[in-house]
Amino acid sequence: MHIASIGISKLCFLFSLALCGLLFLLIPALKPPAQQLDWPRPRAQVRPQRPRLSNGVSAASDDSQKAESTTRLVISLAGQKALDETENTKDENYVPKRSGDLQGTAGGLLRHRGHDLLILEDIFIAVKTTRKYHTSRLELLIKTWISQAKEHTFIFTDSDDKELQMKTGTNLINTNCSAAHTRQALCCKMSVEYDKFIESQKKWFCHMDDDNYVILPSLLQLLSSYHHSQDVYLGRASLDHPIEAAERVRNDGSVSVKFWFATGGAGFCISRGLALKMSPWASLGNFISTAEKIRLPDDCTVGYIIEALLEVTLTHSNLFHSHLENLQRLPTDTVLEQVTLSYGGFDNRKNVVSIVGGFSLAKDPTRFQTIHCLLYADTDWCPKK
Ligand code: UDP
Ligand code: MN
Repeated sequence: MHIASIGISKLCFLFSLALCGLLFLLIPALKPPAQQLDWPRPRAQVRPQRPRLSNGVSAASDDSQKAESTTRLVISLAGQKALDETENTKDENYVPKRSGDLQGTAGGLLRHRGHDLLILEDIFIAVKTTRKYHTSRLELLIKTWISQAKEHTFIFTDSDDKELQMKTGTNLINTNCSAAHTRQALCCKMSVEYDKFIESQKKWFCHMDDDNYVILPSLLQLLSSYHHSQDVYLGRASLDHPIEAAERVRNDGSVSVKFWFATGGAGFCISRGLALKMSPWASLGNFISTAEKIRLPDDCTVGYIIEALLEVTLTHSNLFHSHLENLQRLPTDTVLEQVTLSYGGFDNRKNVVSIVGGFSLAKDPTRFQTIHCLLYADTDWCPKK
């Protein structure tokens, strides 16, 4: 009996040992599934390195451009405003171009470089002129910069000139406005310019005077920084303060309104998106009645509609130039980077940009031919080196 009880104890002991061993073997299986954290995860999207372009702007890959192009940051240097604008990328023709490097501009803005691959065809360039300047001013423009953008430039004048049209193949539009240098006559031309632009379906409207040289590559580069569906009004303010006028459109004139405007003599540009919003006060003759109400010239009226009525601010750019400024002060090495230039002015033929090139001051008093030959050396009438 005693022997039998010892045998049972041994058996119990051995059974306990076996149970412990089994439990020991089961421990890893009973552990919480810690390894789950290391299971494969979706791979992070890695943006490929972009090649650098010669101008220091990196060329973006298509996909990364599309992602970046949805957002554009516009920050004024004065720190008053930081707009995070979402672009309209629904446009079928919208092809992103540049990467999002933050850059300073002559307009005093820091912004992401844009992505709107722009070609000259996208720009409607309107040149305001009058019969008496067809020979003295217009022919020089047709010979120089207009020759590079003939199909996209529209000359708004006040008489037919079949001879000039035949000889040069330009788009000459007789506005039938008066040839007088009056507010009404000038606003009449602007009104026709606006309507023709809307009709054209182009992305940008740029107005020029007939004493402006347009540096087309610079214009393209500047407008490429924006998207035509944004509200963009670009130009040079002629004053260092906003203009003040009696408010006679939304009020009886007893209150005044202050706004900036881009001086017409330096040229200015408006995006299609913004131009469409101007329609109630600018289309089909409404521009003339708006100008009449506030009794201001054409370029001021444009500023009034955009800044005062639509509350869109002018983007000041020092790349546009009129002869109201001292053009000789413009540093020679920056002349070809400007968007527009001008010459002369009231009794001041010597107010021209200082640039040295193919023609003497006597042969090329406006400097426009010299500039043109520096930009397009292959032109047949340019001096050969
Ligand atoms: N202009 C016009 N009709 C006129 C006089 C001038 O359409 O009777 C145009 C001219 O062709 C130019 C613009 O208005 O495009 C400005 O004229 P200008 O350069 O003579 O004057 P300023 O620049 O001094 O205002
Ligand atoms: Mn002028």
